[in-house]
Parts: sequence; structure tokens; C-alpha cells
Amino acid sequence: MPEQNSNQTILIIGNGQAAAMAVQHLRSQGFAGSIKVVGQESYPAYERPPLSKAMLADPVADVPSICIHSRDFYDTAKIELILGKSVTRIEAEQSVAMLEDGQQISYDYCLFATGGQARQLAAYPYGSPCVHYIRTADDALRLRHSLRPETRLAILGGGFLGMELASTACELGATVDVIEAATALLTRNAPVLFSQWLQERARLTGITLHLGTKVAASQMCPESGTLKLELDNGHQLAVDHLIVAIGMNPNSEIAARSGVTVCPQTRGIEVDSHGRTNISNVFAAGDCATQVDRQTGERVRMESWQNANEQARIAAEAILGITPKAAAFPWFWTDQLSCNIQMLGASVAGLQFVARGEIDPHAANPQFVLLGLKDNVPHYALAVNAAGQLRAIRSLLEKKVAIEPATFSNTDIPIKQFVKKATAAAVV
Ligand SMILES: Cc1cc2nc3c(=O)[nH]c(=O)nc-3n(C[C@H](O)[C@H](O)[C@H](O)COP(=O)(O)OP(=O)(O)OC[C@H]3O[C@@H](n4cnc5c(N)ncnc54)[C@H](O)[C@@H]3O)c2cc1C
Repeated sequence: MPEQNSNQTILIIGNGQAAAMAVQHLRSQGFAGSIKVVGQESYPAYERPPLSKAMLADPVADVPSICIHSRDFYDTAKIELILGKSVTRIEAEQSVAMLEDGQQISYDYCLFATGGQARQLAAYPYGSPCVHYIRTADDALRLRHSLRPETRLAILGGGFLGMELASTACELGATVDVIEAATALLTRNAPVLFSQWLQERARLTGITLHLGTKVAASQMCPESGTLKLELDNGHQLAVDHLIVAIGMNPNSEIAARSGVTVCPQTRGIEVDSHGRTNISNVFAAGDCATQVDRQTGERVRMESWQNANEQARIAAEAILGITPKAAAFPWFWTDQLSCNIQMLGASVAGLQFVARGEIDPHAANPQFVLLGLKDNVPHYALAVNAAGQLRAIRSLLEKKVAIEPATFSNTDIPIKQFVKKATAAAVV
């Protein structure tokens, strides 16, 4: 593609996953103008998924080891990084962004890639002794320095993040209690069969689950440094550290303050399928953005690595006037309890589940796939230690190919053969 728009400036607000992908696509698509990235954190963009996994477990892992691009990349691609600074608002009519230090940056196009921040509880202020929230590399490093084999740890929230943290801390030898208000783990995002399997596996790993309960009272004992928690079912815990992992809030206030439409339900910055907001030269991508879901017609905000990458690519292409290829089928992964768990699509209500492989929490190396069907058409898939099988069935979900549930469950039939037959039958 010829070099283009060399006199234009694209400003990216935020310097996380979406920002890193956006700058890469802008340059690879031939944008030759100025790219400025303003990031609140002092590091170049880094991957967040390792913060609850490898980076916590590895005592020597540092931020450079999880950076998305090298310093050389930014230098060679002539991308101006303005780090350790925040944008406080944009003046949309003048196309100017204001920074907290009074600096002003004029732009032709602006991309909000501001992500989100850990949802906080007033009872446990951010940064107070023995209280942890995990969103940034600094948060993870602080927690890592606190974790010892003898540490007693409580985690508020049994979502994907809470369970990843529980799993990693348990591997490090800590005593882990997870407190979850819902009566089962992850039922909002995953099928009940999986939830039951995960709960049992967590218990077998040594994690104590307190389901259907909340903290009723807590008290810090300054002499011992112990935090005493009383649950609303009367159970009492004494812990050295508490992690609050109850979700995240999108960073959309600056957009709202600047006249960019923010969805009252999802609190994300409203964008169309090309990442464009209500202001024609302002775009948004990643955890801060909300889009209408093609299946349900409802606005959703996805918090995943793949979504940040895809929305960033699409917004970058749209900014350059290229018609973007549609977003890839939604995919998410998590590593916990010695398992790699991957999902395609969303586990929505009304799906009927069929399994391939044994759903056994005792198995040393469990391997199974759950397929969520509507009228035998797969809409959702979850694979435990079966990434290859998930890759093989992906086309069935993308093309909405009806399957025979019993044939899918038959592990004597190789998965690729099953997919080939189902696809051929659909074509006839
Ligand atoms: C601990 C952890 C583990 C995860 N594990 C997984 C996983 O296993 N699988 C998966 O699919 N996803 C995972 N995710 C989610 C995934 O990392 C996020 O969806 C992704 O990072 C979102 O990218 P983003 O660019 O939208 O936001 P972010 O990566 O949050 O980046 C936003 C950046 O913008 C900055 N910023 C905000 N406001 C301003 C401002 N006004 N001015 C300047 N800068 C600003 C922020 O400081 C931040 O650096 C995990 C997330 C976390 C936190």
C-alpha cells in the first residue's frame, strides 16, 4: 500500500493491548503521518494476561519480558510515546486533546484505547496494606512480593481472574480461600457442567471455595498484620492478604466528559462495527468500547485480549479509509488449575450442551470439549486442554453448520473426520 496521509496526526489515548495493535496496523497499512500515544502507565504497552499467571509465578519475570513491542519497534516505526501522562479531555470540535500537565495535542483522528480499572470496594481502598487489586504490572509485582508459601490469602470474586489468581497462589504454596457471592463459579460465562467440574477441581487442588456468601465484616489487626473476615454465613477467616477481583469498570469518563456517547448499561464508549463513535474522527477499541452484538442486537462490552486486538485492527483500518474485514469469531482463554481452557462464542441462555471426552475433575490431564447447540447448530464451544480440537471445530461455529450430537461425542471418530463429514453434509 502506498504511503498516505503523511501530514495527518493520529492520537491514541491509552497504551495497552488495543493501542499496541492499533499502531502496528496503522503503520503496516501504510500510514505515514504522525502517531502519538499518551499512556498513563510509565511502561510501553505490555500484555496483561501474564499478570495473573506466569508473571506472578515466576520470581524473576519483569515488565520488559511481557512488553508487546520492543523499544526498537517504536523508534523504527516513528511512534511518539508520551508515557506517565493522562489525557483529561478532548475538545472534539477543535480536535485537540488536553493532558493533565497542560499540554495540548491536536489530532486529525483520535482513538480511545483507555481500557478499564479494577472495580474497587470502599471497605478495601486501593493501596492499603494487605489489600490487592490486579490490573497493572505494578499491581502484580506488589502481589508477587507479598506471596510466600505460608501466605494465607483470601480472594473476593470467583470469576476468571479470581480463579486464575487462586490457582497461581495455590501453586506457590499459599493457603487460598475464594469468596464468591453467586452459588456457583462462572455460571454467567460458562455452562453449568463446566462450572461444576471447575469447582470440584479447585477443591481437589486445595482451594477452599465459599460460595453464595459475602464478607459481612472485616477487621485489621495491626500487631499481627492479619485481616479478620467474617462471612455472612458466620464463617470466620484470618488472612495475610486479600485480593479483590470483582470485575472492572471501563475508563470512559473522559470520553463522556468530552461529548462522546457512553452507554448507560455497559458504561462503554459506544462504537459502530468499525469502531467509530458519535464523533466522526473519534474511535474507540478494546475494554473501553461497547458494540452492538450481531446475534442479540444488544450492546456488549467484551473484556478479552482477542477483542482488544480485533477492535484495534478494525478501528485502525477504518481511520485509514480501508473497509475492514469482519472481526474474528470471539475467542477467550484462561490458564488455571493446570489446565488450558479456551472458549469460542458466548455461553448464552437456551443452549443444549454435548460433551466430547470425560468431564472428570480427578483426571491428572483432563481433556474434553463442550459444544453449546441450538437446533443442533453450534454457537459456543469450550475446550479443556483441547486447543487443537477447538481449532478443528471453529469453522462449524463460524459457518453455523448443524451437527449430529452423538457423532461429536464419539471419541473413536477423529475430530477432523467429524468436521469434514458435518461440513460435507451441510453442503449437500
Ligand atoms: C490480570 C489480567 C489477566 C487477564 N487474562 C486474560 C486472559 O487470560 N485471556 C484474555 O482473553 N484476556 C485476559 N485479560 C483481559 C485483557 O488483558 C484485556 O481485555 C486487554 O488488556 C484490554 O486491552 P485494552 O487496550 O482495551 O486495555 P488496557 O490493556 O487496560 O490498556 C489501557 C491503557 O490505557 C491507559 N489509560 C487509561 N486512561 C487513560 C488516559 N486518560 N490517558 C492516558 N492513558 C490512559 C491505562 O493506564 C492502560 O495502560 C486479562 C486482564 C487482566 C487485568
